[in-house]
Amino acid sequence: MEKAVITGLRHAGIVKVPMPEPKENWVLVKVHAVPMCTEYKAFVAGRAGAYLGHEAVGEVAAIAQPGPVKVGDRVVVQPQYPCGVCDLCVAGDYIHCRHVMDFEAFTGSREGSATYAQYLLKPDWLLSPIPDDLSYDLAGLALCGLGPSFGAFDAMGVDTFDTVLVTGAGAVGLGAVINAAYRGARIIVVESIRYRAERAMALGAEVVIDPGDPDALEQLMALTGGVGADKALDCSGVPAAQRFCIDATRRKGQVAFIGECSDPVELRVSPDMIRKGLTIRGSWHYNLSLYPQIIQVIQRSPVIGQLISHTFPMREVQQALALSASHQCAKIILHPWA
Ligand SMILES: [Zn+2]
Ligand SMILES: [Zn+2]
Repeated sequence: MEKAVITGLRHAGIVKVPMPEPKENWVLVKVHAVPMCTEYKAFVAGRAGAYLGHEAVGEVAAIAQPGPVKVGDRVVVQPQYPCGVCDLCVAGDYIHCRHVMDFEAFTGSREGSATYAQYLLKPDWLLSPIPDDLSYDLAGLALCGLGPSFGAFDAMGVDTFDTVLVTGAGAVGLGAVINAAYRGARIIVVESIRYRAERAMALGAEVVIDPGDPDALEQLMALTGGVGADKALDCSGVPAAQRFCIDATRRKGQVAFIGECSDPVELRVSPDMIRKGLTIRGSWHYNLSLYPQIIQVIQRSPVIGQLISHTFPMREVQQALALSASHQCAKIILHPWA
């Protein structure tokens, strides 16, 4: 089979590797759409990588034992290789699994673990069914496009009474705009890149504030009657934006972080949390029980198609990664068989 690899600084291409084989409840999936995510970071850093990607959509190609899916089923491939038996997995919060499996130890090879590939392997219980009327490309938005913000908004109870602040309007932040709009919330976005600001407006944001404006916080306060946003979601992973979320959210409000970040962010427990009554949480993906609701958003949102800005054949992975690194895009989808 063919798969895409990063070979060096801003260089990527296609290689041929052995076909993975199904084993026990691990199913062979023929990949039809690969939503691109953060892989561009390795591309611009020059970090070579032979196992790219964690998002995929496809059809069941072969199984080793009877289970919940059959050959030909169209499926969203959920991320990671969780154990399936710990308390978190059983509860549907498999993304936080206590005992993530060792792919190579279980299969004898790492082939089949990448999503930038024509085939992959996945435990059968992590293959979520795609309704007949939904394309592979749109179904792929049930991964990082809509997933992290959906999980955070579900946890915060975002609804039509809320003014929601979204910082960072990359593909994840734009997905947050779609989710917030679907829930009827008023949406304020913070984003500096013009392409993304315009796309956020098209998807339902009321206003986009430039974080480079020295009075960005004052603008947010003026838009909320001096009170602040009810709920805030950082999708940027930038400490300054995370801090902005804390400062821009009202007393007794809620803040969620879904943009990955390992740098420290300033937090003062008394003024920021205790006295203000602020709830701050981290959120990664969504509980598997929410999958039908995400599919409903994809089926019913009138603007969902605009979350995908570009598609490429996988053999043009070099151009696709360069575009992803430019940030002049929303979600980009690769097609391994085009
Ligand atoms: Zn587990
Ligand atoms: Zn992702």
